[in-house]
Amino acid sequence: MSDATISTDASDLTDEAAALDAADELRAKRDAFTLEDETGADTVYLDGNSLGALPRAVPARLADVVAREWGQLRIRSWEESGWWTAPERIGDRVGRIVGAAPGQVVVGDSTSVNVFKAVVAAVRIAQERGAHRDQIVVDEATFPTDGYIAESAARMTGCTVRAVAAGDVPTAVGPRTAVALVNHVDYRTGRLHDLPGTTAAVHAAGALAVWDLCHSAGALPVGLDAHGVDLAVGCTYKYLNGGPGAPAYLYVAREHQPRFDSPLPGWNSHADPFGMDTAYTPADGAVRGRVGTPDILSMLALEAALEVWDDVPIEAVRAKSLALTDFFLRCVERYVPAGRVRSVTPAAHAERGSQVALRCADAGPAMAELVRRGVVGDFRRPDVLRFGFTPLYTGFAEVERAARVLADVLDEVG
Ligand SMILES: *Cc1c(COP(=O)(O)O)cnc(C)c1O
Repeated sequence: MSDATISTDASDLTDEAAALDAADELRAKRDAFTLEDETGADTVYLDGNSLGALPRAVPARLADVVAREWGQLRIRSWEESGWWTAPERIGDRVGRIVGAAPGQVVVGDSTSVNVFKAVVAAVRIAQERGAHRDQIVVDEATFPTDGYIAESAARMTGCTVRAVAAGDVPTAVGPRTAVALVNHVDYRTGRLHDLPGTTAAVHAAGALAVWDLCHSAGALPVGLDAHGVDLAVGCTYKYLNGGPGAPAYLYVAREHQPRFDSPLPGWNSHADPFGMDTAYTPADGAVRGRVGTPDILSMLALEAALEVWDDVPIEAVRAKSLALTDFFLRCVERYVPAGRVRSVTPAAHAERGSQVALRCADAGPAMAELVRRGVVGDFRRPDVLRFGFTPLYTGFAEVERAARVLADVLDEVG
């Protein structure tokens, strides 16, 4: 396609993008983020599902934490600056976004470490119920870290792992199942799994459900309490924009907290941490999910990053996310020659997260060229172009441009 044909064909889509941007109730949120790059070039950032953009409030807050709280108050900050209670305080902020009432979410450690705590603790609870349960059912397309850790957790608890498609978990669970560990949204395809239905089926089998929310938290309503989820984990550097390596979180439903027996019972989860007792007595509540000294700098950067959510209804985020991915799919269909790409992201809204994954020959070189032209997504081997849509800062005009540049690139790379 020549540029001339594209601009003629595109005119109604560029008009539509402008109208959608004008009607977008989240549009002003974009100003809360830093989106310019070092050259001043106008980048379309569609990789917020890998590393969310920097919220503008973070640098000044972090500078204050370093210079004043650490530099001047030093040890006093554990009390006076609220460092000690940051994991639960920030956990409650995350809880609001994923539908958890206060007191059930604690922030800290990586997602991988929290998967370990959640799976082992869930197996222990299931096995305490009396029946013989020795199976951990795992989403077979899971992000690899969850699968590796489930394997190790299984060896430690006398279980075996059974990998099944996430959609088959409801029929795969049975009297031997201790725990089902499922990714809410598939990181590769962007498929959204049925959290309410799967959780209910896992419960009907007498087992516990552990959900990994890495690709859903901050992109769509999760409803942890509403759907009776047992335990959940997630990272904060994707749609929650907490920054590289920002601490992850662990949700332990209130009903399970008294029986939550952590495989990593560090001193921070002790009922009296400064009693320095040789015997371990777990604290009550979400604190039980803590391990060692929290990573305060990253954690307080995350707290500042989460301020942008204060007045944002997650339903508005979901509505815009679906509108963005719908519009992107339409633009791709219009601009990209037929057969050149195939979406592996479900068309049905009920099965779609906040990304679009396109299968494409030469996906590697195509993404490298897209990035060179200012459209940043990512490449997942062997043949997937992955585009993440962050409703708080992605606009419709950018989506139209991304599809147009993609068509140009595929025209040249192919
Ligand atoms: C991003 C992601 C992770 C990352 O785990 P870390 O320990 O934070 O590196 C884990 N699980 C899923 C499903 C992910 O998408």
